Amino acid sequence: MPEGHIIHRLAREIRSTLGGAPVLASSPQGRFADGAAAIDRHRLVRTDAWGKYLFCDFGTGEILHVHLGLIGKFRRRATPPPDPVGVVRLRLVGQGTTWDLSGPTRCELITPEEQDRIVAGLGADPLRRGADVATMRDRFARSGRPVGAVLLDQSIVAGIGNVYRAELLFLCGIRPDRAAASLTDDEFDELWRRTVELMRVGTRLGRIVTTEPDEIGRSRGRMGDEDRLYVYHREHCRRCGGPIATAEIGGRQIWYCPTCQPATA
Ligand SMILES: [Zn+2]
Repeated sequence: MPEGHIIHRLAREIRSTLGGAPVLASSPQGRFADGAAAIDRHRLVRTDAWGKYLFCDFGTGEILHVHLGLIGKFRRRATPPPDPVGVVRLRLVGQGTTWDLSGPTRCELITPEEQDRIVAGLGADPLRRGADVATMRDRFARSGRPVGAVLLDQSIVAGIGNVYRAELLFLCGIRPDRAAASLTDDEFDELWRRTVELMRVGTRLGRIVTTEPDEIGRSRGRMGDEDRLYVYHREHCRRCGGPIATAEIGGRQIWYCPTCQPATA
């Protein structure tokens, strides 16, 4: 599933490639024909990302809301675009760039008030300035759930998915089944600091890289898939070489290193 870094990157790329001139909107698949017609030939005024939610404002009074979900994808093509490949819900044709959206969980026009309601239900977004970290800290302290589950709760912290949660907890040396309320202030601070840092790296690179350049011997931009993660979907810890353990936490499988992430602080 695309995590918040992909959505923030899309918001920037779509704005920079489609902003300015009127956009030709269509729904090759037909399922979003009315919505596409409503924004067709309007100028993209603004894009905004909150966690895993993307909003595009075409100045029509309604907002295009996209949630990619598990399999949704925005594909970038040159203009004029080739025939749509697969099932394309929405095609946005700009002067030099075309974006094809397929497989989203949500693709709809909503009112600004509905956008406000969605955003109000989301927790701190590490990729937004002024994120409400104090409320997030408070929610951690009051939670009775494992930290691994709380990190996936978009109403507490918005944008983290299954890869980042495993890697961030590894980097902080925190076992995913520890209660969120058991984190010390220092542990919480480090978790937040690393989250902001690594999600920014992910936004810049367009993929998740959590390993330290000093440890791997090359820069983050040049790491291969074998080198870019410590524990997620791995059999052996990228740092200590020990066997990786898995557990189901927050409804999804998580990978962790029992050696580098001991049971207690
Ligand atoms: Zn380890």
